[in-house]
Amino acid sequence: MHSQLLPSARLLPFRSRATLPGRVCHYLLFTSLAAGCVAFLAGDSKGAEPGWKAGVSRAVITPEQPVWLAGYGSKRAPDGKLHDLWMKALALEDPQGRRVVLITSDFQGVPKKMSDPVFARIREQYALERSQVMFTFSHNHCGPRLGDDLIDYYPVEAEQEKLVDEYTTQMIDKVVVLVGAALERLAPASLQMGTGRATFAVNRRNNREADVPMLLEQGAPLVGPVDHSVPVLTVTRPEGKLEAILFGYACHPTTLSFMTWCGDYPGFAQQELEEKHPGATAMFVNTCGGDQNPLPRRTVALCEKYGHMLAAGVEEVLAQPLAPVSEGIKTAFEYVDLPYLKVMSRDDLLAASKETNAIKARWGERLLKKLDAGERFEEAYPYPVHAWQLGREMLIIGMGAETVVDYALRFKEEFGAGTWVCGYTDDMISYIPSRRVWEEGGYEGGSNLYEYGRPALRWNGDIEERISAVVRRLVAQVRD
Ligand SMILES: [Zn+2]
Repeated sequence: MHSQLLPSARLLPFRSRATLPGRVCHYLLFTSLAAGCVAFLAGDSKGAEPGWKAGVSRAVITPEQPVWLAGYGSKRAPDGKLHDLWMKALALEDPQGRRVVLITSDFQGVPKKMSDPVFARIREQYALERSQVMFTFSHNHCGPRLGDDLIDYYPVEAEQEKLVDEYTTQMIDKVVVLVGAALERLAPASLQMGTGRATFAVNRRNNREADVPMLLEQGAPLVGPVDHSVPVLTVTRPEGKLEAILFGYACHPTTLSFMTWCGDYPGFAQQELEEKHPGATAMFVNTCGGDQNPLPRRTVALCEKYGHMLAAGVEEVLAQPLAPVSEGIKTAFEYVDLPYLKVMSRDDLLAASKETNAIKARWGERLLKKLDAGERFEEAYPYPVHAWQLGREMLIIGMGAETVVDYALRFKEEFGAGTWVCGYTDDMISYIPSRRVWEEGGYEGGSNLYEYGRPALRWNGDIEERISAVVRRLVAQVRD
């Protein structure tokens, strides 16, 4: 499959483009002019904060066995692939030797039962604490099932359970090796950042999918909060080689719902950027896209189009002067207990097990067995929250699960320019509604926790306040 590349970019290799007038190492131009030193343009990279070290690694994760595709609440056996699925890691080290590792992946949902052993082994093998590692997943719905993520979504077939277990175990091993490889490759680099824009994400709570094509055609406004920003971080070697491009967007990778492996729009965007910048690794994080969909959707052509729109948003940033990120790493991590509104009783589960909704019936039956085995359900769920301060300029807030867009808008407003708010970090859990979305109810805010296997139907109404209090505390810790 070809993505739609700009002709000029396709014709020119990276080195040639870098010598074009007006495109000479933009970050050098920026820092040089800021320093009032035009002679700097000759190519010296001293102005670009050389105190960082960075290492990048990548691994193919496309299943070799017929593990089903994840999401959409049904059995989805794979029928081939458009392109490979990837897991990638970026390790950073500051001059004091403090380190962080960001993992990005084309997974739909990484469950706690998978990420907890990963964090334990990373601590043991590389002496990295939980606060130093974020394990993100794009929420790609053309990616494979993992562990007990969305366990009640799928009919139970013994052979499939075995394949999912085996694949999950392989992936735990693979991510640990991946992190080790990124750490081994730590070498001098500079970091720069900027923000672009892409407009295909639509608030799916406020615009009916069927209406969107007509509204777009009429030029009518789509409604509801969105976050169309495309945050970009680049990693460049001292000699000028672009090593990595990390970028984000707030939108579900649900353009496609067929049975073919691919990375959905983030997969196409990463592929296009890597073709345009040979030798560079493109990495994607889903920011807070819990209530955002790429609309209209359902065709490969639309998926490629959105991938291209996102890549073009990144390219616009790369074509402008980027802002250097000064050296320094500070990290903080905490679990917030998110209380359920009401934990299910035996009677509730018995009623659920008799429902015609297959997911709810499987959920009720499975949890009843747990009760019969003497298990007691927790009243709350441990929700992971990270804060990383990189230099003076960049703050990354990493939040578990499917955060709705209100969280990104709120924290970017509160903490200012240079703030990234990443959802889909460490643990899939469920939707995480804001107070507004919780009050409104509906799919992301209402009684749908059973879909994720939780022992309740709804979160307590105050979870935004609980999460925000912890985010504020962690940010204060990393910024003091
Ligand atoms: Zn989702």
